[in-house]
Amino acid sequence: MARKIIAGNWKMNGDPARIEVFAKALLSQVAWGELQVDLVICPPALLVSQLCALSAGTPLQVGGQDCHWNAEGAHTGDLSAQLLAELGATYVIIGHSERRRDHGETPAQIGAKIAAALTAGLTPIFCVGETAQERKDGRALAVVEAQVCASLSVARERTALDRLIVAYEPVWAIGTGKTASLSDIVRVHCALRRVLADEVKTEVQTPLLYGGSVTPGNAADILSVPNVDGALVGGASLIAEDFQTIAQVLL
Ligand code: PEP
Repeated sequence: MARKIIAGNWKMNGDPARIEVFAKALLSQVAWGELQVDLVICPPALLVSQLCALSAGTPLQVGGQDCHWNAEGAHTGDLSAQLLAELGATYVIIGHSERRRDHGETPAQIGAKIAAALTAGLTPIFCVGETAQERKDGRALAVVEAQVCASLSVARERTALDRLIVAYEPVWAIGTGKTASLSDIVRVHCALRRVLADEVKTEVQTPLLYGGSVTPGNAADILSVPNVDGALVGGASLIAEDFQTIAQVLL
């Protein structure tokens, strides 16, 4: 059985004061001994060190929101997976639709970033998902499968894909308050399982997360869907109580 994970994506939100209040609230509320899930927060890069210090010695883990595919060099403004790992991060989101949209990330670059993250010892959370138009055209499955194959064929040439996590995040559901129906999630996650069996080529079962407007109100339904091993949460991860409520669904 795949590991259960609840990961929060803070995107370009937060500051040192807010993350301190958040971490202290979360760490004082969660019944850590009972928690059967990996709990991860991915803050803006400049807050990674601070959150690592705040969460040291607790089960709360820290992730980046992106990394470069090279370990170092002339890449102004970029961030290496090695540096994230040195700062104490253990996860990194790769290929989020907002990075594909804002930075034109290609499937090959995303594959190379996944490999860089794995090489640095991080666990990549690889995001895939169709746009509203692609869904309307009946191409959701084809798009998601193509995204997986195009990036993982590149990543696989560079390293074993043994610590990978895949997050299905329909683009039209991110930050909109709309979620995929439970039957759509079943359909896509089953397709992901099939395609990952061919692409990942390891014994370990790749955990599959759902992301897109997950809230305390819908988390129990979404997380009870077969083949959903957790959630990638944007907006609701900014509020300690909401994030905790979502995580506790998996207790
Ligand atoms: C996300 O940023 O990955 C996300 C799923 O955001 P939200 O939960 O706000 O839709």
